[in-house]
Amino acid sequence: MASAPISVEIRAYQVGFGDCFLVSFVYPQEKKRHVLIDFGTTALPKRGSKTVKPSEHLPRIAEHIKGVCGGELTAVIATHRHADHISGFATDGRSGGSGKVIAACKPKVVLQPWTEDPDAARDARAATRDTSRSPKSYLASLAAMHRLAGHALALALDPPKSMSASVAKQLAFLGEDNIRNRSAVENLMAMGRRRGAKAVWAHHGSSAGLQRLLPGVKVRVLGPPTLAQTEKIRKMRSSDPDEFWQLLGSARGLRGMGVAEVRRGGAAAAGKTVPVEARWFRDRIADLSAQQLLEIVRVLDDQMNNTSLILLFEVGKKKLLFPGDAQIENWSWALQDAPDAAKTRKLLAQVDFYKVGHHGSRNATPRQLLWENFAKRGAVPERMKTALSTLKGKHGTKSRKTEVPRTTLLDALERETQLLNTEEISLAAGSEPFELHTIDL
Ligand SMILES: [Zn+2]
Repeated sequence: MASAPISVEIRAYQVGFGDCFLVSFVYPQEKKRHVLIDFGTTALPKRGSKTVKPSEHLPRIAEHIKGVCGGELTAVIATHRHADHISGFATDGRSGGSGKVIAACKPKVVLQPWTEDPDAARDARAATRDTSRSPKSYLASLAAMHRLAGHALALALDPPKSMSASVAKQLAFLGEDNIRNRSAVENLMAMGRRRGAKAVWAHHGSSAGLQRLLPGVKVRVLGPPTLAQTEKIRKMRSSDPDEFWQLLGSARGLRGMGVAEVRRGGAAAAGKTVPVEARWFRDRIADLSAQQLLEIVRVLDDQMNNTSLILLFEVGKKKLLFPGDAQIENWSWALQDAPDAAKTRKLLAQVDFYKVGHHGSRNATPRQLLWENFAKRGAVPERMKTALSTLKGKHGTKSRKTEVPRTTLLDALERETQLLNTEEISLAAGSEPFELHTIDL
């Protein structure tokens, strides 16, 4: 193996509302090393008048990935636990078993954020040495909120008369995205436990575990921070913290569920049946106004997004930035509050490729801290490349300026970068399910 790649191929797959990127480092003599970053969807586009089914489409993409990588993945990266980033790793019928195809490519490293470390639920050492900040309860609350999402979804699927259709639709969407995708989570764990493989749970400043596997590539983990680094990821600027913590208190009282417990048995909450022990909780939820419930589920959604890995690949003189769905609190640690924030901003000014955060939503590409700091926008010789994986009409509304992708951001991306937008990838018969950016080094 040569010591450094000569180019990088980035394939953005058409997964509708979700992310799926295959990053291939090309070494001399056509030798390649492949890293899969996320593989999931919560809504697929139509083919003609028919909506494409995940159980048919995800295996097609998995087989394509297997073909490109010759059945060998160097690493699988799951930036965070939302279904639109991991549902393709599931091995059950809903994904058409696409996760089995990926597992057969035997990734040598499975990289996830520290909040996914199963040991952290029982013993916080791996997450942070500072147990006084209680990451355990933070993780338990993420897990408990997953159950809440399941109940919200159940309610949205069988809405009371008082609930408007639009609220029910938004609730169903957010609920679906947040419930644990047990099969996918288990497959990620199993891939990391395979003999010869390594599971890595990373945080700001930690190793991504890829050093020896990707010669000539430096991978920096910029996010998420641990709670010892900052408490800010617990809270969201654009939400109602009172409502949030009040609810968290109740949720914790719900038999003190831990991550492991939910992992073993809790994923069924997505069905229409509510577990007996949670019925009182369901009734409390039903008492909340639909708007309040929606607000709470949004907070949950945001908080999970803030557990996203933010990764910077430095290869040759090029810099490639993959931030998952990280939102402002996660970014602001890396770019503003961390001891090395000035250095990070300087590095990111030179980014050559940016995977647009959170499907182009308004709060995942911080305008001043990140966007305006990108030097290679606009009329420059080597204009930066960007990739946006999204599906219009699923999230937010234009009148509230919350539509995803946000029009103003999309305009700027089109105007000032070489944008690859997965919405433009056709699923018509005979067409390829991906679009390619090549970065020459
Ligand atoms: Zn997402």
